[in-house]
Amino acid sequence: APTIVWFRDDLRLGDNPALVAAAERGDPTIAVYVLDEQSPGIRPLGGAAKWWLHHSLERLASDLGERGVPLVLGRGAAAGVIRSLVDEAGAGAVLWNRRYGAAERAVDTALKAALTESGVEVGSFGASLLFEPWTIRTGAGTPYSVFTPFWRACLAADEPRHPSQPPELTAGGAGADRLAARGARLDDWGLLPTDPDWAGGLRETWEPGERAAHRRLRAFLAGDLDRYADARDRLDLDATSRLSPHLRWGELSPHQVWHETRRRAAGTEGAAKFLSELGWREFAYHVLFHFPELATRNLRPEFDRFPWPPPDTDAITAWERGTTGIPVVDAAMRELWRTGGMHNRARMVAASFLTKNLLVDWRLGEQWFWDTLVDADPASNPFGWQWVAGSGADAAPYFRVFNPELQRRRFDPDDEYVRRWIPELDTADYPEPLVDLRGSRAAALAAYEHVTGAR
Ligand code: FAD
Repeated sequence: APTIVWFRDDLRLGDNPALVAAAERGDPTIAVYVLDEQSPGIRPLGGAAKWWLHHSLERLASDLGERGVPLVLGRGAAAGVIRSLVDEAGAGAVLWNRRYGAAERAVDTALKAALTESGVEVGSFGASLLFEPWTIRTGAGTPYSVFTPFWRACLAADEPRHPSQPPELTAGGAGADRLAARGARLDDWGLLPTDPDWAGGLRETWEPGERAAHRRLRAFLAGDLDRYADARDRLDLDATSRLSPHLRWGELSPHQVWHETRRRAAGTEGAAKFLSELGWREFAYHVLFHFPELATRNLRPEFDRFPWPPPDTDAITAWERGTTGIPVVDAAMRELWRTGGMHNRARMVAASFLTKNLLVDWRLGEQWFWDTLVDADPASNPFGWQWVAGSGADAAPYFRVFNPELQRRRFDPDDEYVRRWIPELDTADYPEPLVDLRGSRAAALAAYEHVTGAR
């Protein structure tokens, strides 16, 4: 009886534990991807994420196809889709790699129970995180809420497993081909923008897929890793790995990144710093696992008292379009709109400006990033927003309002980054600042007194 491997946030053949387990079973493998916009609580993907997903699935289908394994596409509530595929294929097992969001886990748990009851074997594996969120605990047995001790505990735990090679698969056979032919067609899913086609900048900037992910990793390790510890915060230098969308979609596993980095550069400052950034990704998932409402609720409940004024739609639109008159914020937001990416420091500055200088609820900014980032991540994105807003885990203290002008001087000393995105910077076409930075900062600090109870 064939084995179904259900692909989700793990669009790769290398270091894919579910796929390895399928190969070990020896039966024909059928690969499945389900576009699920129906199961309760599953967050619909944003536009840039859909663009990435389309291309990544195309690559995955082609890589699997070379091994005689078709990728069957289904759409709808995932549990129902998988169960009918099991019936049609007469599958003996369904294997997948774990997800960590609450809604996704609920789908997986219910499906596992139903399949097991009907005599179908089910296997789930850890593939997307170096440290499963429930395995890292404080001395008191609670989850961590501060990064440094969290990461120290991770580093003291067993070293992450060594990645595996893409396995030899048994081709799916005629039954699998029939299923694939009857399944959905990627082009019919409408994941790509057409009218207007806004994805030109994404196409110029990114190359989705497992092979491109490995090329990117190799290029980074051979080049920028050396200067990473010093240059990673510079907006003008492109000195970071740009691996985040590849990790988000699982085209690359953190285990591959971890071991390849250590093989090339163990003991260097660059490697330690780079791996600790992967640690922030682990921490964001740790927090999401233990606090499933990360994208909608303040992690620190005292922030529920924050007096957000009614949203100023003109100001929000200026922020989204990059016309606030604050150059580093505008450059960041235009980069995001055009390329689907943004440097980490620019994310912090743009988010701080929205939530503090414009006093806009972090959830609105989080949603905009969710729609426009190719790496829009269910853990790292809300985690990053709550961190900047001050309501999150190990968050920046509220009074640390980023000053965009100081940030620009420090991290874009020759204005190279701002000029790249704002050609009209020195002309009359460039708008005056939307708000006074000092005055708006003072207003934010006054609003914060509602949180501390000083008012
Ligand atoms: P590098 O510096 O090369 O880091 C290597 C990898 O470590 C990254 O690819 C990423 O997977 C991980 N990483 C690095 N920094 C962080 C961090 N602060 N938090 C979590 N993981 C990190 N990252 C996302 O992947 N998806 C998001 O949706 C996302 N939204 C964010 C929103 C805000 C407001 C902020 C402040 C940060 C957000 N980040 C998000 C984190 C970070 O900005 C990006 O991961 C980083 O900019 C990606 O660039 P890179 O791959 O070149 O990173």
